Amino acid sequence: MASTVSDGGDSAGRYRRAQRGLTRLLLRDVARLRRFLNPARLQESFPDWLSAADEVVAQYGDMAASLAAQFFEAERDGAGVPEAFTPELARRPPPEQVEASLRWAAHGIWTAESDTQVADPLDVRLDAAERQAEAVAQKLVLDQGRETIRQAVREDRQAVGYARAAALGACSFCKLMASRGMVYATAGTAGGDANESFLGDGAAKYHNSCNCCVIPVFRGQRFELSSHAAEWDRLYQEYAQGHPGDQLRLFRRALAEHDKHPLP
Ligand SMILES: [Zn+2]
Repeated sequence: MASTVSDGGDSAGRYRRAQRGLTRLLLRDVARLRRFLNPARLQESFPDWLSAADEVVAQYGDMAASLAAQFFEAERDGAGVPEAFTPELARRPPPEQVEASLRWAAHGIWTAESDTQVADPLDVRLDAAERQAEAVAQKLVLDQGRETIRQAVREDRQAVGYARAAALGACSFCKLMASRGMVYATAGTAGGDANESFLGDGAAKYHNSCNCCVIPVFRGQRFELSSHAAEWDRLYQEYAQGHPGDQLRLFRRALAEHDKHPLP
């Protein structure tokens, strides 16, 4: 009998909570890195902060990938598909990418006063840098988990696609991606419905601080939108579809006016 899988299902909910728990610990550890920055010797202490942050991102990224692989395997078992398959953990992002993201997050601490603008006090700039570092660290870490599932879906002959599960309080972009339902892994299995090329690279795009999860779908399973994602889809069709170039703005407005779940 075909089983049903949904972005609002129990197992997706458990995975989301596990990913959320990991994120909380990550953000706590990124905040603790503040001790590496010596306000009196910012230039000299910054490299220590950078390498410590890099280490935290690497450790948590590997944990996110393991968590994703476990979820994939559990979902696969639940789907009862034949043949064995062990998902490979997605690789860590390139060191240059991690360093560039962290440097970008911290760039505000170097801002000096200009003619037109008085710089914020250093502690305010450090706070802002910390929040941005948390946001980019979350993206780098969770992307490693999300990529683990997308990669497994591409490589497992028994997987047909994946869907995005967005939080009720997610942004309009993530709600739009979630409302599209299942994305087929390859054009060959697409059957004229949504696929990665149809969605552009949006299906694989996750912004800083994004909490979205990727849910795999296997052969013989039927994907069903959760009631909240079905409502987002209805709002999209009613208010935004058929307005090329303006869909996201119209969808955001429709959500603000009609969705009972708040936008961030
Ligand atoms: Zn998201």
